[in-house]
Amino acid sequence: MPDPLLEVRDLHVTFGRGRGPRVHAVNGVSLDIAAGECVGLVGESGSGKSTFARGLLGLVPGQATHLTFDGTELAPKRQGVPGMAMVFQDPYSSLDPSMRVGDSIAEPLWHHPDHNRRTRAARVEELLALVGSPAEHASRYPHEFSGGQRQRLAIARALASDPKLLLCDEAVSALDVSTQNQIVNLLLRLQRELGVSLLFIAHDLTLVRAVSTRVAVMYLGRIMETGPVRRLFDMPSHPYTEALLSAVPVPDPVGRESRRRILLKGDPPDPALPPSGCPFHTRCQYQMPVCTEVVPPEIPVAGGGTVACHLHSGPIAGPLSAISASTSDDPVERNATV
Ligand code: SF4
Repeated sequence: MPDPLLEVRDLHVTFGRGRGPRVHAVNGVSLDIAAGECVGLVGESGSGKSTFARGLLGLVPGQATHLTFDGTELAPKRQGVPGMAMVFQDPYSSLDPSMRVGDSIAEPLWHHPDHNRRTRAARVEELLALVGSPAEHASRYPHEFSGGQRQRLAIARALASDPKLLLCDEAVSALDVSTQNQIVNLLLRLQRELGVSLLFIAHDLTLVRAVSTRVAVMYLGRIMETGPVRRLFDMPSHPYTEALLSAVPVPDPVGRESRRRILLKGDPPDPALPPSGCPFHTRCQYQMPVCTEVVPPEIPVAGGGTVACHLHSGPIAGPLSAISASTSDDPVERNATV
């Protein structure tokens, strides 16, 4: 991988103090993002994906052993990071409904020493053109636009300060499919033309596959698996990734018939009361005695990325399908033999 733009090691975000319950929303996450790369971040709701992004920006208090962006160590206490910007699911999170769109887009530039009223107006026009919106949209209010148009305007605002990394937090989840495609194409064009990196947080795996070059899978605040998109989707190494992928609709009827749907038991555990050992053990069909006691370390996977699962005993993990094929179909027997 080229020099990372973002390097995160062992990021923790914990909520709650004193005698109340403490929630480890992000529990030791490490991730790199290269310049110009799009990394997908997936997992069920409550897995900590959004909190991870907010922890990077300093919008929630987090602690990491190492956190650098664009070659600079980030201060532990920060309110935003120059060069990083967030696109939220709800555009109203960044567009004030009571402000004209142009003023909202220009807001990040208000205290910029290189800008005055005239240059800000020119920059707003430039940004609107960049996201495919007409210049006259600057004088209108957010409620006058459709959801897709509002998201374009929110992206224009996020681009105002020339970010090198856009954190897209479920940025297209609330949109209909055709509008989703338009916004995803816009993000990919911006990635190509501006060289901006993307952290694409989503629960739609089909979309993540189309957009990302690498993917990280989160569960209960931890990374379960990372890898190049093709390796991870075609040969997952973690049971949670396998289960998530088994729920993705397959358009091809032959592929649909040959695929086994894995139904996960119950809901994810309460993050305030996480299970011991592997966080996924309460829902894992491959669970072994060691899984309830020991947190699995992240080990490299042949073909790229990492996995945290006791099924892989060697120094380098392989695909889960190779383990399944070499053992019994009976999970109980399999657990005894792995
Ligand atoms: Fe399942 Fe054990 Fe692997 Fe966790 S460590 S995913 S419980 S097999």
